[in-house]
Parts: sequence; structure tokens; C-alpha cells
Amino acid sequence: MADDDAAITFADLALREELLTALTQLGYEEPTPIQREAIPPVVEGRDLLGQAATGTGKTAAFALPILQRLDRDASERSPAALVLVPTRELAMQVSEAMHKYGRGLRTRVLPVYGGQPIRMQLRALERGVDVVVATPGRAIDHLNRGTLRLDKIETVVLDEADEMLDMGFAEDLEALLEAAPETRQTVLFSATMPPRLNGMVKRHLREPVTIEIGRADVESEAKRVRQTAYIVPRASKPAALGRLLDVEQPTAALVFCRTRDEVDTLTETLNGRGYRAEALHGGMSQQQRDRVMNRLRSGNADLLLATDVAARGLDIDLLTHVVNYDVPASPEAYVHRIGRVGRAGREGVAITLAQPREHRMLRTIEHITKQKIKIEKIPTVADLRARRLELTRAGLEESLLEDGDLDHFRVVVETLAESYDVMDVAAAAVKLAHEASGGPAPDEEEIPDVQPASDRGAPRGRDDRTKRPAGKRESAGMTRIFIGAGRVAGIRPKDLVGAITNEAGLVGRDIGGIEIGDRFSLVEVPEGSVDGVITALRGTTIKGKKATIRRERFQSPRR
Ligand code: AMP
Repeated sequence: MADDDAAITFADLALREELLTALTQLGYEEPTPIQREAIPPVVEGRDLLGQAATGTGKTAAFALPILQRLDRDASERSPAALVLVPTRELAMQVSEAMHKYGRGLRTRVLPVYGGQPIRMQLRALERGVDVVVATPGRAIDHLNRGTLRLDKIETVVLDEADEMLDMGFAEDLEALLEAAPETRQTVLFSATMPPRLNGMVKRHLREPVTIEIGRADVESEAKRVRQTAYIVPRASKPAALGRLLDVEQPTAALVFCRTRDEVDTLTETLNGRGYRAEALHGGMSQQQRDRVMNRLRSGNADLLLATDVAARGLDIDLLTHVVNYDVPASPEAYVHRIGRVGRAGREGVAITLAQPREHRMLRTIEHITKQKIKIEKIPTVADLRARRLELTRAGLEESLLEDGDLDHFRVVVETLAESYDVMDVAAAAVKLAHEASGGPAPDEEEIPDVQPASDRGAPRGRDDRTKRPAGKRESAGMTRIFIGAGRVAGIRPKDLVGAITNEAGLVGRDIGGIEIGDRFSLVEVPEGSVDGVITALRGTTIKGKKATIRRERFQSPRR
């Protein structure tokens, strides 16, 4: 990340005071790369075509300019902006974010999605709104009923456009775009840019500014770093982090958070759980920073929590682990962060906690850095117990190997051996040593496993690591096929294996990794069979339904 880029603040982007206040309150310290690039042209009214996945900060990249440009009084009833998103969850998430950013402006934001009683939405629309965040199907319903008027629309955003197309919303999107005034601004974000999107872009965007996140050259400096990621729901993140720290036992770890608030909350949570964590803030004096660093160096703390801004210029030799508590907003930020370990020939570990929706961002990072990020399962309670016992065993062995003065204790063993079996005596001693080794109390709750993965070839837990060669997920000579149906449609790995073996004449072992997402699945097949498999699957149904079948089109973004 170039320093001059890094120095750009939200204030430099000339945002309204009310928005700057909201961002400060949310603890956002600086714009993410997509925000830096997208906000100025969108504020100016330009159309925009942005390739960015969840986790890049794309929501604020379109939400802030919309809020910046809103200029109307509360008597205005028809919306000025329409944001179209593929799912109900995203509709809620985006409208919540817009509501937060626009608090100081009293912006009226309404999420509109299927599944919610239409009457509630009708009433809210009648009262008047500034921004509607809708799924395409429900937006069309309202348009046809005459309850959603698009004649005052100044900006239309298509968020996750590729997913909307995959979900069969192409016609709805066309109809909505046709219904909005021609003079409106159009902003389109998509994680991938499939050819199918080109037609829509040509028809509806006017000389768009084009942004690809992660286009910058990322010189990979982090080859010695073992990179893993864990897919965890937001609510389980603190527990997951604790579990990983217990298993990994870092000498010193730097944990990156997105916001200052997150740094503070997490530091408190970790300290409450018995870890020794220190927060590093951008606003700290050099003296305060030195104090924190000294605590780390002297072993009085082993975790340092910081935002990217606060960690700038930090160089700590003894770091063994870098943790991304959230997926970084760009591949550059990722590389920059993990470059803090693995220095001077030492090995380091980089751990990323990703929410299920963020797995695409992980892939983007992999493509750009040309390095694998292995998705693993959060260690189970049994894994943790085994690991803790292993530490006790190692401690005992060390004490046996040292020329330790054990005579003193041998007497105790001899006395006890008169009444008990020596094995039992030893086991009781191990138990005591184990309990006394203390450390943070193990979190005995299992952490939900929500990997977008299957039981075949997918990211595996520790136990399976030896059985399945690393890198199986994208094996050489294999190509992934995208199937537009996933968990929500009840798809299981065996349905896919069944369809492929029955229809395309492959045998089970020809098929590589399978990943099942909520709404799509990916299956690896040998490169030579791809076309045959695609043709065969297109001619059949999966779980009784036709699904989109194609080569997975994710390609490394062009340089
Ligand atoms: P998105 O890619 O829009 O889904 O955003 C991912 C996450 O990053 C959300 O939790 C946002 O609240 C957060 N976020 C967005 N922009 C920033 C920023 N400039 N600084 C810190 N966090 C941010």
C-alpha cells in the first residue's frame, strides 16, 4: 500500500460533516481502497462499475455518496435512491448500514424484501422514504402495484450483480432499470464480471468509472507464512479466536480489527477470558506505545490488538502470529499485515477469521497473492483438550530430560507405590500438573462449523490433514464447475456426485473437491471432462430443478 494512498482520510473525500461524525462514531479510521476510489466519482454523479466482493467496504462506497448527494426535504415521498440486492439478509444489512451512516441527516431508509408482510412496506412507502433497499422480485411487485414510484430516482445501485443474475433476476433488473429515469446515475458492484453482465452494463451504464479491487501489484513478501482461514459466524468470533489462541499458543500475536471500537471491545473480552491483551491506538503518545511494546517484549502481554492505522510502523521481532479478526478490505492490506511475521527467515502464522459471506474476498486475496489460504475447521473441544494434554506431556518430558533434581520427589513416589500401582501414581501426578498448568479456562462449547464446504475434498479439520493432500481444493488439472443451486435448495454432495456420475459417465473418484454454498455449489472435475459434464448437467435436473451450470468464472483480476 503506497503511503500517499494510506494518508487519505474520509475528510479528504469531502464528505459532509454529519457523515464524518457518523464514521468517527463507528470507529472507521480511514477509507478502504474501494471507498477511496469509488466515493469521489460517485459523489460527482458518475456511473460506476466496481469489481469488489463482500468485505471490501463496498457498502459504504456507494452508501456514503448517496447520502452525500441527498438534498431534499421530508415532505418528499418518492425515493431518490434504489439499491437492489440479491437477498433479504443483504437488504437488511445494507439498509442498517445506510441508516447508521445517515443518522445525522435523518435519512429515511426502507428495506423491502419478500417474506415480510407487504402491508408494512406499503405503509412505510406511503409515509415517504429517501432510499429503498430491495430485492428485485419484491421491488417489481411494488412497481406493478404502483406503490413504488421510480420517477424521482437519482441513483440506482446494483449490489452483487453477478449473484442477482445467477438467481434469475435478470428480467426484473431490466424492468426496474427501464422504469427509472434515464438521467439517473447507475452504480454496479459485482464480485465477478461474467460476460452476461456486459450486456446490462452496456445498456444501462454511461461511461462508467471502472474499479477493480486488488489490481495493484502485490509483491508477495510472505512466503514463509502459514496462512489459514476459518469461516465463523460473527457471534462466534470471540470464542473462535480464543480457541485458536489456545491451540496455537503464540509467543506474541498481533490481532487486526477493522475499527477502534472493535479493538476496545475485543481487548476487554479477551482479558475477561484470561488472556493478556493490550490495545494499541492511533492516538497514543510514543511513550504509551513504548509501554505497550515493552509489556509485550517482557512477556507480560502476549496479544496486541490494533487497527491498520494504529499498527503502522510497528516492527516486532517476536511476533509469531498475525490474526485478521475480519477479512482485510484489500489484498494489499492482507499482504501488508501478514508481512509482520515470517521475517528474517523465521516461520510465521497468519490466521484469518471470515464470515461465510466473505469467502469470495478470501479467494480474491489468494488469486492476487498467488498463495494458498487454507480453510480449516475451528478446533473442536476434543482437539483443544488433546492439545492441552500434549503441552503437559511435553512439559513433563522436558523436566525428565533436564538433569532435574527428582530425588526429592522419588521418595514420594516410593511411599505411594507401597499402596498404589505406580502407573496410577504417575497418572495422578500428570493430572495435577495438567490442572496446575492453568492458562485460560477452555471454552467448553463447540463452535458452529459453517464452512461453505462438503464432506469431500473440502477444507478439512486437523484430523484429516494427513489423509488428504494439501491443496486438494484446486488440484492441478482440475477445473471447477459452478452449479446455481446450493444448501438452500437442499443440495448435498451426494446429489452432485450422483448427477455427474449418472449423466456424464465419470466415476466417483474422478470428482475432486465439492463446495456447497447457500445458493450455489462448486465441483471440481478433470479439465478434459469439463465440457462433457457441463453439457450433461445442463440436460438434466438436480433435485428436480434446472440449475445454471457453467465453468466457474472467477479469474484472477487483470493487472
Ligand atoms: P462490506 O464489504 O461493505 O460488507 O463491509 C465489510 C465490513 O467492513 C462491514 O462490517 C463494515 O462496517 C466495515 N467497514 C466498511 N468500511 C470501513 C472502514 N473504512 N473502516 C473500518 N471498517 C469498515
